[in-house]
Amino acid sequence: MGCPFGVSLSSVKVSQTLIAVDSPLGSFLPPDRTSHALFRHRCGQRGGRGRPANPPGNLENVQLFDRLAADDYEQVVFCQDNGTGLRAIIAIHDTTLGPALGGTRFFPYGSDDEALDDVLRLAKGMSYKSAAAGLDLGGGKAVIVGDPAKVKTESLLRAYGRFVDALGGRYITAEDVGTTQADMDLIRRETRCVTGVSRSLGGSGDPSAATAYGVMHGMKAVASKLWGDTSLAGRHVVVSGVGKVGYSLVRHLVEERARVTVTDVVPAAVERAVKDFGIEATPVDSAHQVACDIYSPCAMGKALSPVTIPELACTAVVGSANNQLADETCAPLLEDKVVVYAPDYIVNAGGVINIAEELVGYHRERAYSNVRRIFDTTLAVLDTAENEGITTALAADRVAERRMVELARIHQIRTFHER
Ligand code: NAD
Repeated sequence: MGCPFGVSLSSVKVSQTLIAVDSPLGSFLPPDRTSHALFRHRCGQRGGRGRPANPPGNLENVQLFDRLAADDYEQVVFCQDNGTGLRAIIAIHDTTLGPALGGTRFFPYGSDDEALDDVLRLAKGMSYKSAAAGLDLGGGKAVIVGDPAKVKTESLLRAYGRFVDALGGRYITAEDVGTTQADMDLIRRETRCVTGVSRSLGGSGDPSAATAYGVMHGMKAVASKLWGDTSLAGRHVVVSGVGKVGYSLVRHLVEERARVTVTDVVPAAVERAVKDFGIEATPVDSAHQVACDIYSPCAMGKALSPVTIPELACTAVVGSANNQLADETCAPLLEDKVVVYAPDYIVNAGGVINIAEELVGYHRERAYSNVRRIFDTTLAVLDTAENEGITTALAADRVAERRMVELARIHQIRTFHER
């Protein structure tokens, strides 16, 4: 078992294709964002556009390599094992700040391209999330292709764990859609490069409670900016999606004496929240139209679209869902609507902040104290947006990018202990 002790892959047949993209200090440019100019200036023109478009002798992979180069991905690993049926892709976007930590999504993708798209997008998102959260972690993610209800087995997960191990600590995995804490425990038997394992194994368990706690502190930051008071008492919050994070968030909000309305596509989830907390419910299709102080998307992505944004009747949006903005027009649309958007990856970082503590020996009080820093990060993003006259989404990217660039620079200060 490797990480950090090296690699041992003797008993499982391992086949992997390694696609590595040179990333001298890493650059983090999202395509088509107006931060490009500033960022490229600071980075001294590194990144995809400086690379040759057609690497000699590798023409069949030109499109893929161009794509990786455009967003400066470091490495993509395809993992295949006939014995267990494993088909997985691990994407490492950037390791400037530390090992690339991100969950493993187990999902029945319609095609290999779809799986690759997803893992690349998610890996880059993790670079930004961890950078903005002040963590010494890079960004990575993995996907396993298949329906977890049908093909997930112990041997498949453990074969996958050995591929993770083979990366020697460059990638550290965790739970995501389609994987569970029990799965992480199995993977732990093959590698130490896994977080979110059971408490009995020294882990922190399910991260969703920490995520909810962080979202609540993001809401407090927004409240202090908008209303000059961190208290949520009397504020009306509509929570869409009362699964693991949403339910836990509702508990915090009720404790804060907020007025809470919930919705979910699963009636039983709504009933449970209403019964447990004595709160109101609203139909799922019109939840975003409810007049309230804060609308909180805690279900799937793309809750904020050119269709839903004009219908919003809230003052702010603060929720746990990943990828809330359906496309690049949405952040300006929210500005025009005068709705304050607390960027998703800023306020939902509580989970990764919590599991990152496992890497230094999990201590719950210290982890939750770090999660509370989401209050400061959210305020910093809102202030940056205000001071620089940009959307909060762009401000979040700038906060993350600045940290990555500044810390990349210190790696040029060399130490010589090992020699
Ligand atoms: P979950 O699956 O436990 O809960 C999601 C809930 O949303 C379910 O109850 C589901 O029925 C409901 N739902 C699905 N579609 C809906 C819709 N269209 N409208 C309203 N409700 C709908 O997931 P979770 O772990 O609570 O995560 C919620 C969101 O937060 C996801 O986007 C996830 O990626 C994100 N997130 C979660 C964590 C974490 O620690 N779990 C961390 C960061 C981000």
